[in-house]
Amino acid sequence: MGSLRQQKEDAKVEEMIKDLLKFVVRAFFSSPYILVLDCILFHSVLAEEDISHLLGLKRPDIRSLCSKLIEERLLSSHSQPEFQAGTKGVRRYYYFVKYPEAIDAIKWKVHQLVTKLKLDLQENSKPQGYLCTTCHTKYSQLDAVSLLNYDRTQFICSLCDEPLIEDDSNKLSQVKQQNLSRLMVQLEPIITYLKKIDDSKVEENTFELALTKLIPPQNNTQAYYRADLQAQANAVNGILNNSNSRKAGTNSQATLHVNITTASDERAQKELQIKQYEEKMKHNALPEWHEQSTIGKSLGHLRDEE
Ligand SMILES: [Zn+2]
Repeated sequence: MGSLRQQKEDAKVEEMIKDLLKFVVRAFFSSPYILVLDCILFHSVLAEEDISHLLGLKRPDIRSLCSKLIEERLLSSHSQPEFQAGTKGVRRYYYFVKYPEAIDAIKWKVHQLVTKLKLDLQENSKPQGYLCTTCHTKYSQLDAVSLLNYDRTQFICSLCDEPLIEDDSNKLSQVKQQNLSRLMVQLEPIITYLKKIDDSKVEENTFELALTKLIPPQNNTQAYYRADLQAQANAVNGILNNSNSRKAGTNSQATLHVNITTASDERAQKELQIKQYEEKMKHNALPEWHEQSTIGKSLGHLRDEE
């Protein structure tokens, strides 16, 4: 146990992580997943039947929702045998969030998306080129530069001296660029959260620790909400004792932090280049995709377009 000040700081970081998780689940998952994760984040740890009770969903549905979240490493589970007086034992499943693991999973997801965006942008950000409406000759962006007219306001066809228009026949690529830029706008808050969290120390959250922060789900719950002693013994003897796993978490965070920072710095660089380019090309404007922003629009787009 740290000092009171340390505990307050840890609680603040934990709230920040919860906010991030709520944001991420809304960006990438449908409503049932949002309900399940919100519910678990509020109570700290929940037995499967209690989630079922709280949300009014069948247990097999809860299990499949949780399995998917576990697969995405946003959620962790703990199971243990529990015995009620006069009944035979049951294996009870609890769900909670291992914060460092969830953060790493989000970082990995963001890193993958950013990398994919960068590749797609490189492929799709090639200028569309120009077209002569009279003789239908197409010119690449590079060719067009040598066709600038005397006062440098227009490109002129080398064959018929007519002004060229922007060749927007490749509409698909424009739509793609719009989608990419919108996705980037939507990732921005997640990256901001991740950077803030990177500046703080993220504490491990084990089943036992999650239990200490429990907000009980209901009065007549069947679940113990107590760590099985045998399981605790196994955890102590296991490879990952607390300080080791904490160290592992810190290391992987550090690595990914570098990647994400680099990615967004490169993007800033790219945006600057585009802006400079745009300045030069005043009268032969580029597609407007980079000016269009969807801030405030539904995050649903993110999962629809993925
Ligand atoms: Zn022409």
